[in-house]
Amino acid sequence: MNGMKRSVRTRQVPIYRDAAFDLRDALTTSRAFEDDLRDPLGEGDYIYSRYGNPTVRAVAAQLAALEGASWAFLTQSGMGAIDVAVSVFQEAARPRPLLFFSEIYGGTHTYADEVLMRRRGIEVHRFLPAGDRYDLRALEALLASLRPSLLFFEAVSNPLLMVADGREVIRLAREAGCRVVVDNTFATPYLWHPLDDGADLVVHSATKYLSGHGNLLAGVVLGHDEELAAAVNSYRRLAGHLLAPDEAARLGDQLRTFTLRMERHCHNAAALARLLDEHPAVERVFFPGLPGHPTHAEAQRLFEGKGYGGMVTFDMAGENPSEKRARRDRFIEAVRENIALLPTLGNVETTLLPIEAVWGDRYPEPGLIRLSVGIEETGLLVERVRRALEITL
Ligand code: PLP
Repeated sequence: MNGMKRSVRTRQVPIYRDAAFDLRDALTTSRAFEDDLRDPLGEGDYIYSRYGNPTVRAVAAQLAALEGASWAFLTQSGMGAIDVAVSVFQEAARPRPLLFFSEIYGGTHTYADEVLMRRRGIEVHRFLPAGDRYDLRALEALLASLRPSLLFFEAVSNPLLMVADGREVIRLAREAGCRVVVDNTFATPYLWHPLDDGADLVVHSATKYLSGHGNLLAGVVLGHDEELAAAVNSYRRLAGHLLAPDEAARLGDQLRTFTLRMERHCHNAAALARLLDEHPAVERVFFPGLPGHPTHAEAQRLFEGKGYGGMVTFDMAGENPSEKRARRDRFIEAVRENIALLPTLGNVETTLLPIEAVWGDRYPEPGLIRLSVGIEETGLLVERVRRALEITL
């Protein structure tokens, strides 16, 4: 009658909430610590959840498979993952400058200014696009003159969705003896695997497409190199960049539908981009899948026809800034019931952001709206947006 004696063959990832694990006796204790030092991702006993936790590790393995990585470590947020990935390339004894693309997530931009430059005294440089495209000959020249130890970039810029030829960027950096970290949050492993093309590390805000439901914060650092795995693991556990087992388990559950979700995100974004492109209430659409987008060719090369992502940015039509702003506000009001204004992206429901209100002087165009396109039924979603656009006319 004792149910505890039945064998359990679960298909779920069990949630181990232990802060520390029972090491039984002195011999197994010293062996566990030795094993952990020698091979932190090996088979030895679990010791302490900041060093390693079976739930978190199982979900990290799911992510490694998705990104085509040899290993993955989960962190409490995307910013945690970025701090780990950038910090492991810093050597106080051998300081070299770091190079960041200028068109990256605003939080990463500020992290470079506030944490790397102001607090740690590290020399950070920015690579700026030439107009609405990246000039890779200019990047090559900058790499040669600066000789940075690290290049950090995102293949899809935010909010104008400018696509970099990521393969060529990595090739140029490697040729210049520079290591590469790619934030692959926007492209996702559905569209691109930067590690296959020679990136040293990939990071994600798993808060976005990987978890997909806007109900948790998480990050991940992924790679192939064993030495980097040891460095990432050491920095992560010493600085305490960890994801809790409950959060990891929820991320693991939601990851199961990742590919299906991405298919629909891409499909719906393309459908909305076409609608917006043809509509008189809209002046311009920024979607890398449209032939008129300045980096359509780069996007075709990098994503190899799998899709163009789930983000669409557009500019409302108007004779002057106040007319554009008024039309933007009418649109937001008209879709309010179905499309929320959320300062995040990658959710299963479509959400939007008024760009001027978030980016301020960096993108002062008052008619710009960024849509994070969800996985709603395509016809319904297109109809909702069409109706809202009509209201603004
Ligand atoms: N990287 C990108 C591209 C992002 O858009 C974000 C957040 O918006 C982050 C990193 C930071 O992630 P998190 O908010 O999970 O710390």
